[in-house]
Amino acid sequence: MGAIRDYFGNISSALTSTAKGMGVTLRHYRKEPPITIQYPFERFPVPDRYRGLHILEQEKCIDCKLCAKACPVDCIEIEAEHHGRILEWTQFSIDYKKCIFCEFCIPPCPVDCIHMTTEYELATEDPDGMVEDLLTWTGLRPQDQRALEEAAARKAGKVVPDAAASKPSAEGTSAEDMAAKIAAIKARMGKKD
Ligand code: SF4
Ligand code: SF4
Repeated sequence: MGAIRDYFGNISSALTSTAKGMGVTLRHYRKEPPITIQYPFERFPVPDRYRGLHILEQEKCIDCKLCAKACPVDCIEIEAEHHGRILEWTQFSIDYKKCIFCEFCIPPCPVDCIHMTTEYELATEDPDGMVEDLLTWTGLRPQDQRALEEAAARKAGKVVPDAAASKPSAEGTSAEDMAAKIAAIKARMGKKD
């Protein structure tokens, strides 16, 4: 008799719990706005301090490689030839197959030219596409080339007409430049806004 009472008691308790649970669900279902979004057509805002894809202000970089040395997984490759203060660039890449987004590469930079953006979309069917070159240009810029030629001419004792015009630019990167670089990263990775 006791076993039958327990049996029906358990059924009653299960039904009561289910009804209470459904009551809470229905109450919130009617009151709360949905918390899911239709990704990738909609996106949640990303906090400013989010550690996403990197961006390089190449014109400020001095190829000291401190960022690469600080990287715990050795995923930054930098290659540039130094012509005095002018750099001839070959590579500045990050292998996002290895990167753990720890941000250790950012603080050691003596000229504050490597940053992390809020871009986070890395999904790809091509693992080779996860090695991202951060360079805006490779080799020498025209003004750098001119500066080297003029330096060589000066060394050879030739007259150089306008030395000021050929100095390498020491300007930083504007907000528009940074936005353009982020757009370029997205484009390279096949992403849309
Ligand atoms: S975020 Fe970390 S793992 Fe990624 S490149 Fe920088 S130091 Fe290396
Ligand atoms: S630490 Fe800064 S300046 Fe040095 S190589 Fe890295 S990005 Fe360039």
